[in-house]
Amino acid sequence: MAFITKTFYSQEDLARHLQTHRPSFYFSSKTSTVVPYDKLDSLLPWKKDEDYYLCDLSKLPPHMELTSSGNLILRGAVSWEEAKKFLKSQGRNLKTSPTEQLALITAGVATSCTGERCFAFGTMRSQVVRLKYLNFKGEEKELHRNTPLNTSSAFFKKYSEDYAKYASFKNAPYPRFEKEIDLMIGTEGQLGLVTEVEIETVEDLAVNYVFMLLPRWEEDMGPHLEIYEAVQPHRNSIISCELLDANCMNYLKPDEKLGNNQDVIFLEIKSDAFEEIYGNVLCGLKLTPADEVYEIAESKFHHVRAGVPRAIFERNSQMGVVKVGTDVQVSQERYPDLLNFYRDAAKLGVNYCLFGHFGDAHLHFNYMPTKDESAKCLDKLLELYNKVLEWKGSPFAEHGIGLLKQKYIKRFHGENQLGLFHDLKKEHDPHNQFFPQGFMSAEQ
Ligand SMILES: Cc1cc2nc3c(=O)[nH]c(=O)nc-3n(C[C@H](O)[C@H](O)[C@H](O)COP(=O)(O)OP(=O)(O)OC[C@H]3O[C@@H](n4cnc5c(N)ncnc54)[C@H](O)[C@@H]3O)c2cc1C
Repeated sequence: MAFITKTFYSQEDLARHLQTHRPSFYFSSKTSTVVPYDKLDSLLPWKKDEDYYLCDLSKLPPHMELTSSGNLILRGAVSWEEAKKFLKSQGRNLKTSPTEQLALITAGVATSCTGERCFAFGTMRSQVVRLKYLNFKGEEKELHRNTPLNTSSAFFKKYSEDYAKYASFKNAPYPRFEKEIDLMIGTEGQLGLVTEVEIETVEDLAVNYVFMLLPRWEEDMGPHLEIYEAVQPHRNSIISCELLDANCMNYLKPDEKLGNNQDVIFLEIKSDAFEEIYGNVLCGLKLTPADEVYEIAESKFHHVRAGVPRAIFERNSQMGVVKVGTDVQVSQERYPDLLNFYRDAAKLGVNYCLFGHFGDAHLHFNYMPTKDESAKCLDKLLELYNKVLEWKGSPFAEHGIGLLKQKYIKRFHGENQLGLFHDLKKEHDPHNQFFPQGFMSAEQ
């Protein structure tokens, strides 16, 4: 068996490869945090005496157009950054803004990605009007968001009932499977390959970015929770609400650091609502004085916000360790429990930092272990996932399962989930050619 890397420059070539039914892993920009691209050969075991294909989709010809109703139609290799630039030239903007703007949008559909602007505009899934994909025969098919998913699986009803408790989360421990577009959303390329997407956009309104300096959350999380509560009723005016804690600043260059051993909460606010939010919301905070609120340029915000997870990725690569980080979202009631768990996790004696989509109760706690420290950090995460199950929270709210999270997700999947995965795989991937090691192929 050999690993063979193939790069596709046209959809016709890709369709021809699909017709061979060879087991393959398809990737786009390789920014996934749950797929360790430098260790794929050891993590993609393929026992049969057959070649395994690593298929690069990042060179597929890109295409973008705006419909008269303001939707963006994109085909092929288009990144969030490119789409944003195109839309801004037309007076429009994206409703979804993952922190990693170099990722491709078609892959974002496959991972059901979300991001910062989810606070105001909801999930990417809710913005997909229709999409096209290549099936196992290499045929292009179209799916619409208004058409219910049609499957004869006996597990479908119970799966949907189980899903109900997770309906308010960005992503649940298993895909939504309600409309036909859901076959391609969050299924990580295990049922087909996304080739074209039509997504909603918004008018490119002027925005202001501010940040607030707070005490370290480990010592006093009162100011953080007050801000969390205060922003909730203003999702029409506040577009995003993000956190970088004081520990994150250690991973930035000296001229990029904000605060003085303080946590930072950022808000993206529509300019026409800025006075109202500043006067009525920010000046009304009892635990954060108004003189700890500062304006920041949009470009600097994005640079600093994306700089932290990128620096962590580089640091882990240099140390030769796999990322030990979380992607947990919980309900409003459980947010203090989650923060308290992280406070306890911080006492392990391993370097760490906390950042993420604060306003959505969705944070990434990252250990920065040495090789020797990795095992105890992973044990701590196991403890967390037991709690998340008990709290009925979402363990992996936007980065997906990939290869790295499979051992943690198992406890969230019962007979109904594994049964539906099995039936959908059989129907849409009868030759088991799409990412055969993905979470949908787990044993029943
Ligand atoms: C610094 C940083 C910040 C991030 N911030 C966010 C964030 O805010 N929100 C968020 O949701 N994610 C975030 N991510 C995670 C990552 O960017 C997303 O998971 C993204 O969707 C992956 O896109 P990609 O093009 O890199 O896909 P890849 O890593 O190449 O692939 C990811 C998965 O999608 C599948 N896939 C790829 N292309 C297709 C296709 N055309 N059809 C079907 N399946 C396909 C692959 O098989 C794989 O399973 C971040 C990552 C980093 C490094």
